[in-house]
Amino acid sequence: MPLEGTCPCGDRRWWRQRAPQGSPDYPPGHRSFINKLGQCVRHLVENDYQGRPFEFLGVSVPGLVDTQTGELVRAPNLAWSNVPVREWFQEITKLPVLVDNDANAAALAELWCGEIAREGVQNLLYVLVVEGLGSALIVGGKIYRGSRIGTGGFGHLCISPNGRKCTCGGRGCLEVFVSNPAIIASYLGKVSPTRQRLSVSAIINLARRGQKRAREVLVATAEKLAIGLRSLVHGLAPQVVVVGGELAEAWFLIGPIITEHLKGTFIVPELATVRMMPAMVRSRPSLVGAVTMGIFPEMTAPYERFPVFGPRTRAPSKASAAS
Ligand SMILES: [Zn+2]
Repeated sequence: MPLEGTCPCGDRRWWRQRAPQGSPDYPPGHRSFINKLGQCVRHLVENDYQGRPFEFLGVSVPGLVDTQTGELVRAPNLAWSNVPVREWFQEITKLPVLVDNDANAAALAELWCGEIAREGVQNLLYVLVVEGLGSALIVGGKIYRGSRIGTGGFGHLCISPNGRKCTCGGRGCLEVFVSNPAIIASYLGKVSPTRQRLSVSAIINLARRGQKRAREVLVATAEKLAIGLRSLVHGLAPQVVVVGGELAEAWFLIGPIITEHLKGTFIVPELATVRMMPAMVRSRPSLVGAVTMGIFPEMTAPYERFPVFGPRTRAPSKASAAS
């Protein structure tokens, strides 16, 4: 699970580190990882941007977040639980820290920078396909958070009760079929996701060049995603469904398949008018979202103060981000 940090002030410098996972081979190293990333941010603030005030540090994490305490409650793909992300980053950086789920952050990025920002979309479902499948729901221009811990678990929608086991403990969850590791494993003919150097982007490039296997894998992924989206659109009736992550690069192939798969399957034909589109923010959307949180801190609050988005109104000059 890559976590990265960058300063959005025009500096092209990046830090990148793979977050330690809590498997037997990779004992949970969240404290040391956050220490290292926090020290990078602190170094940047103290040495590279002396005298320039930083108002917030925005942090996006791949799991459920307690928005009041900034604690990462659970991240199944990292096997991290109850990690006080806000507290630890604040201790190290001495900055106010805002923490949110990566899919929420990616949706914020889309609302801030994407095409839909200009269109005034108020009801949006964002599906982020990365190491798992995250989701964000924008209702009436605000992130819908449900209870204090928030939403984002559509990846664990069961679409095959007897399917493979998921990191959540269930079987046949949507993200078992639609996630970067699942796509790569399928391409390689593996039953379960494995650590491979191959990327989904590479598979998409092969499909673009006409390779049969790559196309078949992406078509099968699109069909599974369509099964999940059918339920979600029935239940939520958003104006727009945005698919983000590397898989969005394959929209030339998967977009028509999703549309075709959904055709005629809705209980009322009006639901078929829900617009499906790839994310416009393709590069590190949750990181861009973390920047968005720092620039517009009220956007991360689970309260009515959450603003209705419009076109970009402020330059990203006073925030740093980690994702
Ligand atoms: Zn699951």
